Amino acid sequence: MELRILKHGNLMGTPDAKEMLLRAGPGSDPAHQLWEEIAEIKTSFGYSGQCTSALIIDEERPEAFPALFDPSYLTVACDYMSTESIDRALEAISAAGFSPAEIKSVLVSHFHPDHFDPRLLDNLHNAVAYSHAEAYIPGCQPLDQKKFGDSIVALNTPGHGGPHTSYLLKLPKYDLAVCLAGDLVMSHAHYLAREHPLSFTDPKEGLASIATVWQELKQMKCKHALVFPGHGLPFFALEDL
Ligand SMILES: [Zn+2]
Repeated sequence: MELRILKHGNLMGTPDAKEMLLRAGPGSDPAHQLWEEIAEIKTSFGYSGQCTSALIIDEERPEAFPALFDPSYLTVACDYMSTESIDRALEAISAAGFSPAEIKSVLVSHFHPDHFDPRLLDNLHNAVAYSHAEAYIPGCQPLDQKKFGDSIVALNTPGHGGPHTSYLLKLPKYDLAVCLAGDLVMSHAHYLAREHPLSFTDPKEGLASIATVWQELKQMKCKHALVFPGHGLPFFALEDL
């Protein structure tokens, strides 16, 4: 089992931005105007809002791998809403040494377009998109455990808003358990601020999902556990931190 990070995501919708929009009046014209301004400022510094994407390779299970996790390259900048995002995803696959036809699976965290751009599937002719059975996303099937065996564990992790799946895998080489958290954990700062009322659309569900992730990571009995947030750099999972 090998994990390659294709890109680390960076964040647009931070709690500070959410608070600013809340103060402007959710859904109001001033809030829309403010969002445009926030987006212009952040994109000018290179923060596009893209998500963390990964490629997972396991030669022992050729029916399920190589698999992509959250391979969307959509950003908040309108010019990326074109098919340019698809081209960038295909370029990333090719830079990793694979052809689109070799990709067998796409693991989807949730349906936000910066994570799942269904148009990409039209270019991955041998790939099936998956999510957790209880986190149904149009275009995705429940993760097929027969194909994946125990190589990937899909966790139903609601709280961010809508159905959401986080994925666990083991990298024995490093005695490491990994969680590809999607937007359940958007960044380490988001994790540290998890008790803040703006941290989740449904705070109760979000905190319960985080507790599930921690419990499952512990059960993997690896020396280390690393969380890859949907929009930020990875951090080691210390339960009390
Ligand atoms: Zn999201």
